[in-house]
Amino acid sequence: MKLVLIGCPGAGKGTQAKMLSSKYGIAHISTGDLLREQISKGTELGKKVSEIINAGGLVSDDIVSAMLSERIKADDCKKGYILDGYPRNVSQAEGLESIVGSLDKVICYEVDDDVIVDRMSGRRSCPKCGRMYHVKYNPPKAEGICDVCGDKLIQRKDDNAETVLNRLNVYHKTTAPVIEYYDKKGILLRTSGVGDINDIFETVCSELEGIE
Ligand SMILES: [Zn+2]
Repeated sequence: MKLVLIGCPGAGKGTQAKMLSSKYGIAHISTGDLLREQISKGTELGKKVSEIINAGGLVSDDIVSAMLSERIKADDCKKGYILDGYPRNVSQAEGLESIVGSLDKVICYEVDDDVIVDRMSGRRSCPKCGRMYHVKYNPPKAEGICDVCGDKLIQRKDDNAETVLNRLNVYHKTTAPVIEYYDKKGILLRTSGVGDINDIFETVCSELEGIE
């Protein structure tokens, strides 16, 4: 089973990817993780990648493609895999086909922008122990204070409402053509990313029935 997951930052696609990966015994491949792995292992590719990133550049599609074609040869990919965070544009989507062949399903988790802003702008973390909170959904016992170490909680810069909205705009602009591309191929599954995590998961699983 070959899947691609699409969803904006904060849509919960990482969680869903993990659940799908363990249910179907297929690998969860995040291109971001792959890049970090190459860098931390200090491979030739990793050295090249860190040079590019340190110079403020973007890692080219060729490099990501090369990494992906290596990754899918691994044993844990025998039954299939889930690509998370890739492809991000139509040219990557076209390139992907030459690497993996045809995909079975492309799952798009849809969440309204205001819900994402609510989810992300309410996040707080403890600078000392790293524990995460949410002002509404998972508040600390005392406002603004870590339950564990009593440190003052902070909001990451990336999580303020304006930054989140900007990221969402970029996401919609770049992803819309990718979604359309897969829709035309008839393999797109749009599903709501709002509600109970298990319900979202079950809905998707019922759509995947019969795919190997
Ligand atoms: Zn703490």
